[in-house]
Amino acid sequence: MGGVRNGIICERKREIERRIGEACSAASPQREAGGVTVVAVTKRIGVEAMREAFGCGIRNFGENYVREAEDKRSRLEGAGECAWHLIGPLQSNKCAAAARTFDWVHSLDRAKVARRLGRERVAAGLGPIRALVQVNLGGEKTKSGIPPEGVPAFIDEAGSVEGVEVRGLMCIPEPGLDPAGRRGRFGQLAALLRRERERCPGLDCLSMGMSADFEEAVIEGATHVRIGTALMGERA
Ligand SMILES: *Cc1c(COP(=O)(O)O)cnc(C)c1O
Repeated sequence: MGGVRNGIICERKREIERRIGEACSAASPQREAGGVTVVAVTKRIGVEAMREAFGCGIRNFGENYVREAEDKRSRLEGAGECAWHLIGPLQSNKCAAAARTFDWVHSLDRAKVARRLGRERVAAGLGPIRALVQVNLGGEKTKSGIPPEGVPAFIDEAGSVEGVEVRGLMCIPEPGLDPAGRRGRFGQLAALLRRERERCPGLDCLSMGMSADFEEAVIEGATHVRIGTALMGERA
């Protein structure tokens, strides 16, 4: 055994950090690499690989399914402190489990879900869950997310829920865009956040960018990049 630090996940993490550093230098104004959190997306990735990622210094895990995350969180309990991010759609009947399992939810787009999450956090004696509002920039009919013009009212509504702390915005660009098109979407989300911050200074997070496009997202101001395959390898 060469030790976890020489393992493939650590190697990929170093490479991702190098690329994030370059993207930060390419941003105008230049950014600090410390302002970008890598959320390791671990859907359908086993706990052994997650333990290895933890050993490489990963402290943020992103999951799409509540039950899968619940199970993994309990199995990784001994590993040490880390933050769990829900990045997939959330049904209202899963809110109780989600509120107990996750520290962050990146996919908030329904007021009913915000109220249920908040109620569960308060009932469980936990601090507020940090929430990012998912924005549907491409106007896709089937996709989750609030249309851009609905964002201010939704932030006001979700932001008034006890047990929920709205911290920013999230997007998943529609499929089929080229890199320039995706970067355009990231720029739109960043502009939307800047506008909202004038009313709500506590909004400080932008969750955007995945394995294929995290550099464009960082150049446009991402604070959280959600990276699966480029870090953890191919999913089962
Ligand atoms: C799966 C997933 C990711 C990670 O995708 P990769 O291309 O493997 O990096 C990021 N965000 C969301 C919402 C996802 O569902």
